[in-house]
Amino acid sequence: MIRTTEYAYPTHLREAIDDLPTTPGVYTFHGAEGDLPLYIGKSINIRNRVLSHLRTQDEARMLRQTQRITYIQCAGEIGALLLEASMIKQQQPLFNQKLRRTKQMCALSIQDGRPTVVYSRDINFATQSGLFGLFASRQSALEKIRDIADEHRLCLGLLGLEKVKPGKPCFRSMINRCAGACCAKEGVEDHQGRLISALNNMRIICWPYSGAIGLIERHPAMTQIHVVQNWCYLGSVTDLKQARALTAQASGFDADGYKILCRPLLAGGTEIVEL
Ligand SMILES: [Zn+2]
Repeated sequence: MIRTTEYAYPTHLREAIDDLPTTPGVYTFHGAEGDLPLYIGKSINIRNRVLSHLRTQDEARMLRQTQRITYIQCAGEIGALLLEASMIKQQQPLFNQKLRRTKQMCALSIQDGRPTVVYSRDINFATQSGLFGLFASRQSALEKIRDIADEHRLCLGLLGLEKVKPGKPCFRSMINRCAGACCAKEGVEDHQGRLISALNNMRIICWPYSGAIGLIERHPAMTQIHVVQNWCYLGSVTDLKQARALTAQASGFDADGYKILCRPLLAGGTEIVEL
């Protein structure tokens, strides 16, 4: 079967482009029906990014449905990333499906020597140390443990993923996939050491401040203070008084905020004020 895709440049949107700024920010494609958001994106140059959408044939269906484009300017890339993530979460646009994230996240914690799946609804991931992740589901956390076991010849019996009789070699040790911590071919400490060192590069970093912070971004057009607590983005404002007012909100661990802010905050070089 031959499938032809007809692509027509969305001329009905071309005029809207001229009104878009070349500054960082978040833009929204709105549909005709109820003005609902179809797609939300971010860029350090709103106009250029929207133009490139218009030339993308794969997005023809979304562009045909688009009635108008709105935008919110930001002072920099971090602010645009934070705002985009929070708008997508709140508005769940039709064409952002891939970026949707479940609020509930999983991590691994070592309990009685065994990796155990823990949930963000039960534990504050921002303040609890000794967590590894993040994972979107229990299944993906367990898959990771199996991958680590294969790579580092760990014992699924000791890890609690398989039932084994105490002191007896597990099946994988017989085919040399487990180094034999189950049957004293290696010490349990060696086994545990390899487990921890494999997990270490995905250790969840605890929120490194005593309370909320303002991350300041400056652009010739504007200065913004992005208010964050426990890796949770609370909003962006232009002065410290407004920033302190935002800290009254509840702020549990937020996976998007963690992913966006972990690197810039730990690397330094960002302008931070404790609130
Ligand atoms: Zn074993």
